[in-house]
Amino acid sequence: MIFEPEIETMEHEALVELQSARLRELVSTVYERVPYQRERLDAAGVKPSDIRGVSDLWKLPFTRKSDLRDTYPFGLFAKERGELLRIHASSGTTGKPTVVGYTSGDLEVFGKVCARALAGGGGRPGMLLHNAYGYGLFTGGLGIHQGGEALGMIVVPASTGMTERQVKLIMDFGAEVLCCTPSYALTISREFAKQGIEPCEIPLQHALVGAEPWTETMREEIDSSLGVKSVNIYGLSEIIGPGVSFECVEERHGSHINEDHFLAEVVDPDTGEVLPDGEEGVLVITTLTKEALPLIRYWTSDITSLDHSRCSCGRTLTRMTGVKGRTDDMLIIRGVNVYPTQIEAALGRVGALAPYYRLLVDRSGTLDQLEVEAELSKEVFAEITSDFLSEEIVEADQLLRSVKEDAQRAIRDNVGISARVTLLEPDRLPRSEGGKSQRVVDKRKVLAG
Ligand SMILES: [Zn+2]
Repeated sequence: MIFEPEIETMEHEALVELQSARLRELVSTVYERVPYQRERLDAAGVKPSDIRGVSDLWKLPFTRKSDLRDTYPFGLFAKERGELLRIHASSGTTGKPTVVGYTSGDLEVFGKVCARALAGGGGRPGMLLHNAYGYGLFTGGLGIHQGGEALGMIVVPASTGMTERQVKLIMDFGAEVLCCTPSYALTISREFAKQGIEPCEIPLQHALVGAEPWTETMREEIDSSLGVKSVNIYGLSEIIGPGVSFECVEERHGSHINEDHFLAEVVDPDTGEVLPDGEEGVLVITTLTKEALPLIRYWTSDITSLDHSRCSCGRTLTRMTGVKGRTDDMLIIRGVNVYPTQIEAALGRVGALAPYYRLLVDRSGTLDQLEVEAELSKEVFAEITSDFLSEEIVEADQLLRSVKEDAQRAIRDNVGISARVTLLEPDRLPRSEGGKSQRVVDKRKVLAG
């Protein structure tokens, strides 16, 4: 189902015209109302009259997260306090929190773009939506909540944590759609398994998961363990929250960007030059309709590529590929750029492993060391323990050794670095309680203070 077909299936030329009109208005508003941005535009030698349409976008300077921090809390807002209805903020674990504001118009757009995502992912009016995104300063919970209501769904504001209760509510209320982070979807699926509930007994049909990068391996695990068709929903609080882009259930291949509100470019991370379709770079977004916190060419740090080809679902909205990682999450190990999701994808090729892992990076002398802790699947672990019990220790030992070698080879072949793999018994690594999971321990940073 398409929530707003007149926009979502719009012809490209008409869309560019709409985007150009909105861009012109955005640049004038920002220039007029946000002194910090006016200074930056003046410094870049750009006047609002220089921007006639989307083709002039490249003339505008990028806005970065540091600009939000430097003007903390409300310095980039284009509206007076009295015109705001809501504030959200990031957790601020790495410095000052990033603060975002919404007018009533912004909240209406937020609800609509989330409704488009829910409809794209298989949601329908009248279905019951179990929303296990966190409610609070984080944009996920309230954004999806509004989207569900805008689509006409029955929303259960479960929020995160208390997984046993989540399972009970999903079963008792007959939830058809689940929304949460991908790692929490796996935690919920494990609780179902623990309670002896088979995937075919679970009422869920669809899952919209996001707020952290995930892989096809995780998708297979979520689909089979919950009996759903899961799709990605992408967003970031600086732009609006969830609903910036979403996968359609028909293709599940790239996320359609809500381009009438969010103008997307992919640029070279080093030079800032705009890249052609299919080439990987940093996603940069200009908010075309945001009133409280309009952002020009916001540097998201997320690595992706764009695909303008037609989609079988009927939407004409451009798709972005699965986010490979954030430039912020990228590790440099012995000079090689490594994203945790690349390791995850490599481990996914080894059948004997479960989709839980942790990366430990350390330095011995001047050499970076990468250790990958990976959990064995429950089936393989059971096989090995029964071998040990029946004293077929040699075979169990051989099996473990070959799994470890397979994992090390998969990482070397797919990521291009050597790593030491440590196999763990099932359930050893910490599980998501609904928030974003912590998969990297970089001891080098601790040593450097
Ligand atoms: Zn599609």
